[in-house]
Amino acid sequence: MKVLVGGSVAIDNVKTPVADEKNLLGGSASYAALAAAKLTSPIHLLGVVGHDFPETHLEMLKANGVDLSGLERSEQASFTWTGEYHENMNERTTHDVAINVLEHWEVKVPADLADSSFVVLANMAPLNQLQMLSQCTAKEKFVVADTMDLWITVANKELHEVLTKLDLLVINESEAREFASTNNLVLAGERLLGKGPRYVVIKLGEFGALLFGPDGSFFRCGAWPLRDLADPTGAGDTFLGGLIGYLASEGATSPTFDQLKQAIVKGSILASFTCEDFSTKALEKAGSDDLSSRLNDFRDISHW
Ligand code: AMP
Repeated sequence: MKVLVGGSVAIDNVKTPVADEKNLLGGSASYAALAAAKLTSPIHLLGVVGHDFPETHLEMLKANGVDLSGLERSEQASFTWTGEYHENMNERTTHDVAINVLEHWEVKVPADLADSSFVVLANMAPLNQLQMLSQCTAKEKFVVADTMDLWITVANKELHEVLTKLDLLVINESEAREFASTNNLVLAGERLLGKGPRYVVIKLGEFGALLFGPDGSFFRCGAWPLRDLADPTGAGDTFLGGLIGYLASEGATSPTFDQLKQAIVKGSILASFTCEDFSTKALEKAGSDDLSSRLNDFRDISHW
């Protein structure tokens, strides 16, 4: 079953209280594709990079089971994000967003990927998400999207249209509150369901995630307690990729609620690896034994 992950493929410059690193692999789709590839492969990446994009990043993705045939190359400069995390790493400041290749990007899904069974609309402009989805033609498919505060503000109408086409919306806590116009997260989850998706996941950062489904179905997943946090960039995208990688490994285009619960736990645990080092470095290194061992320990500390 084909898994298509579209979104930003970026150069990130990130400063945290631990270090200041430049020219890192970033982008919503990079993290999500790599995370999904930890659980099933190949994963097909859809995005665009510029002439300045470091080849080593692309080689690493390929070596980890990510197919780059859907990655466009442009003469322009790459999308570049520069940000800084503060002492409390739940808070970050974006210093610069150089849109570059993404400014006039028109998504083109290669013909051989149009029948993908899992379509991941990682964070990018809602217009690009709609372009991508309109070219995905499989009758039976699972469609998931992520978004960010910027799009709630500048592309609210298009984002609402995206929501009507989704099986699952994944959104972080502050964005959920903003989008649903309430501080109550239970109400926010219900209101977001009312906008179209069959399921909604609200990410709670270091506190895990909430899953809302039809008929009041609900699940609360924790997060792995991390002592050594280096860089939380991309944790949400990793969560998204891990979730979809698990569903794809199960062939679950119409997942049961139980499969979604399992998927969220996998996403949450994979995201913990991402936070342990800058960019995708720790996620790259995490093997299936590391993942199983952390999942087992997570089960031990989460049930009673
Ligand atoms: P997250 O930490 O999950 O919010 O994701 C961080 C990633 O999102 C970084 O690697 C950035 O390159 C990417 N990013 C930041 N701003 C945007 C944007 N406007 N559109 C798409 N991707 C973005």
